[in-house]
Parts: sequence; C-alpha cells; structure tokens
Amino acid sequence: MRRSSRYLWVLIAAFGLGAWHSAMAYGPFQGKWPQANLGDPVYLTYSYQNLLDGGLLNPAGDPVPESQIRTAIEEAFSVWAEVAPLHFTEVPDDGLPYGQSTQYGMIRFRHIYINGPDPPTGNPTTKAQARFPGPSVSNGDVDFDHSDPWQLNGTLREPDILGAAIHELGHSLGLTHSDVEGSNLFWIFRRFAGPGTGELHPDDLAAITTHYGTGRGSVTPLVRIPEPTSVALALGGVVALLALRRRSSTERVGLRRP
Ligand SMILES: [Zn+2]
Repeated sequence: MRRSSRYLWVLIAAFGLGAWHSAMAYGPFQGKWPQANLGDPVYLTYSYQNLLDGGLLNPAGDPVPESQIRTAIEEAFSVWAEVAPLHFTEVPDDGLPYGQSTQYGMIRFRHIYINGPDPPTGNPTTKAQARFPGPSVSNGDVDFDHSDPWQLNGTLREPDILGAAIHELGHSLGLTHSDVEGSNLFWIFRRFAGPGTGELHPDDLAAITTHYGTGRGSVTPLVRIPEPTSVALALGGVVALLALRRRSSTERVGLRRP
C-alpha cells in the first residue's frame, strides 16, 4: 500500500514545534487513536518489522541484543500505559515492507537510515522518527536510525533506545513537541540509564491525560524475556525473596506475559 504523505514525519532533532505556541507547555495535539469518550480504553497493536534483526548497533559496533530492545520498547509503552487507559498488544509481523506485508501492528518498529551519527559538536541530529495517529498503515510507526550508536545508558550523541522510544511513542499517540526542557517530548529527548529508569515528566503526564484521560492501560508482548529474577530462581531459589521484591519495569502496568 502506498505510504500516505498527508502525515508529517516528526524529526526529533531537526524541528522544534514549540514555535507554534507561546506558552511554556506541551504542544498542540496531532491526531488521536479512536476513543469514544475521554478515559475509555484504547486498544493498539504493535509489531517489530526489522528492529530485532541485529541492525541496530552499539558504540562498539556490535548488534544490540533483542532482549535489550524489547525491554526498552516495553518499558516505553508502560510509562504511557501506567497513567492513561492505553492498552498495547504485540502482534506478529511478517517483516516485509508495506506493499508486500500482510501482517503487522498499528505501531510498527523499524530501523532505517535517517541521517547518520552526530557531528562532533553542536546539537544532536535526528535519532528516530514517528508518525502521528491516522488512517494510513504507517501512522503510528516508529523508525530508529541504524547509523547512530545505541546503548543502555544514553548520552547526547550515543542515545538509549528507551529515551528515544518514550519520545517517539508520544508522537505515535498524537503528542507534538513540548517547550518544556527536560520533558520527554522536548525536541531533544531525555536520556535514561537502562531498564527501570524510564519515567514521564509532569508535562508529558499532563499532555497524555488531557488527550486520552486518566486511567491505567497494559502492555502485552508476544515473547517472554528471560529476566535476572527468573535466572536466579532457576539456579536454586536462594534469592527467591529478593526476586519477588524486585519490580520489573513492565510489571508496573500489569504486563501480561504469555
Ligand atoms: Zn520528536
């Protein structure tokens, strides 16, 4: 199916939409997934087109492990789902590009070439991009630049997938850039330090709950990621109590593991 050009690709670093309004706050909304009444549950599917195929590399040039990508994406969904009635369910993806593909989610994750790594000085350039909600098959989709290095602990020039995913999913849900420096939807997205560190800024919270209402959603992936807690239990259960007290970053929104 032909890609619609009616919907603006949002580039993280290239444009600041804050100029559209003068108040220091989140930007005007751009599209919304169907919801009969504010606060009603919204059900969205997601899939990985090619994001898990080893095409994203870390600063050493090694592929970012699938488990690391999945953990970051699921946590990014969860930070939105824990404050708004947004339910995200992973579905299979045949991996084919649009036009050939027949199976994929409403929010589809890919890696592509966008613009290369950052120059040594100056502002960061685009690391990822997303499309706003809408009727096209590509609306809601998120692309990561596979010419940038990706890592667990994000820096300005070598970002983390979690920070980029929280920002881009904000766009996938209809949020535009915020004027508020430090918010996730600021044009330079926040960097985080690995699993469990993702969080919304009050400005992001105000934006998403104004757009969809308050509530609690869920994240339901297709694949169970082995976690350190389960490994510890399998090795003898000596840290069972500690493991039970650990709070998974994705469990906090009632993550339903298969
Ligand atoms: Zn952006």
